[in-house]
Amino acid sequence: IRSRLPNVGTTIFTVMSRMAQECGAINLSQGFPDFNAEDVLFERVAHWMRAGHNQYAQMAGMPALREAIAEKVEALYGAAYDVEREITVTAGATQALFTAVAALVHPGDEVIVFEPVYDSYAPAIELQGGKVVRLRLAAPDYRPDWTAVAAAITPRTRMIMINSPHNPTATVWSAADMAQLEALTRGTGIVIVSDEVYEHIVFDGAGHESCARHPELAARSLIVSSFGKTYHITGWKVGYVIGPAELMAEFRKVHQFNVFTVNTPVQLALADYMQDASRYLRLAAFYQAKRDFFTAAMAGSRFELLPSRGTYFQLARYGAISDMADTDFVEHLTREVGVAAIPVSAFFADGHDDGIIRFCFAKNEETLAAACEKLGRI
Ligand code: PMP
Ligand code: GLN
Repeated sequence: IRSRLPNVGTTIFTVMSRMAQECGAINLSQGFPDFNAEDVLFERVAHWMRAGHNQYAQMAGMPALREAIAEKVEALYGAAYDVEREITVTAGATQALFTAVAALVHPGDEVIVFEPVYDSYAPAIELQGGKVVRLRLAAPDYRPDWTAVAAAITPRTRMIMINSPHNPTATVWSAADMAQLEALTRGTGIVIVSDEVYEHIVFDGAGHESCARHPELAARSLIVSSFGKTYHITGWKVGYVIGPAELMAEFRKVHQFNVFTVNTPVQLALADYMQDASRYLRLAAFYQAKRDFFTAAMAGSRFELLPSRGTYFQLARYGAISDMADTDFVEHLTREVGVAAIPVSAFFADGHDDGIIRFCFAKNEETLAAACEKLGRI
């Protein structure tokens, strides 16, 4: 077979979750909660199913959900998005990101990404014949180097894909970073695809710097989010994209033939559930408590934790324990210690390895305590 993606194997999240399951290890690898969402959300899904809302939704998403999204974005970021033309409900963030790239990247176009980079971005770009331009963020701060970004921009640059709060490093971009991005892309035809799936999970009182907060940037951005992260329902695969009408029209040309639309009763249930803003506003404190619990429980271990300022991930150096490659070390941890994690080298095209692994702390305290007890013994 002439592969379209000859250098791509199976995603690390599948590999590690499968290994965790095989070994009966505590799974702190793939990012998903081990606790349930609220009953009231399930009741709303059942309600809309029984009420007969089981046929195709509108192509762009159910109006009630698009309205709820518009209200949230306006309340949090002060930006008005038109419900008819500027908001589309997607089958998770993954589909939104893929569709955005498919809709906008021509063969030979350059797309700038920041490494370590979420693993779905580069294959999406390569499938369109785009060229991935990788800019490296360095441990332990993983700050973007704006001089390097300026140098990487060429007349062929079509898109810059950003992600704050950032998976896997748990860093967040500041208003100054957004101002730099805005200045560097001013007067260019560059589109920003901003992956903001962790928008509600920013710690220590810092606000989320959505592109939507910056009108000039927002005018050339498609902003992606995911209900999976926000409402503890990663398996439902529902997300959305917002952006100016001109870009959204192109997005929808592809979306309509990619998934056409997303399942109806879940959209209606989410529209109801979003009416109570406290359900997403409390998320930062909820996960900050888990971060702090995990940090405290790891204090006696030989892992060195890096700062986690957002997301539900925590990076850790293991140099005091082992000099194994990170892929070997996570396999050892899973098979011998009983805790699965993600090797950060999986987020680099060349497998760059700093001896750092990622833990997911979106877990009950009992799960975290049991994992930390094992991790503290090695
Ligand atoms: N982007 C990032 C940075 C993610 O971490 C994830 C999933 N964890 C996604 C996109 C995909 O989100 P979804 O499950 O909604 O497709
Ligand atoms: N985004 C999640 C993570 O980083 C996993 C999602 C997936 O498995 N595709 O762990």
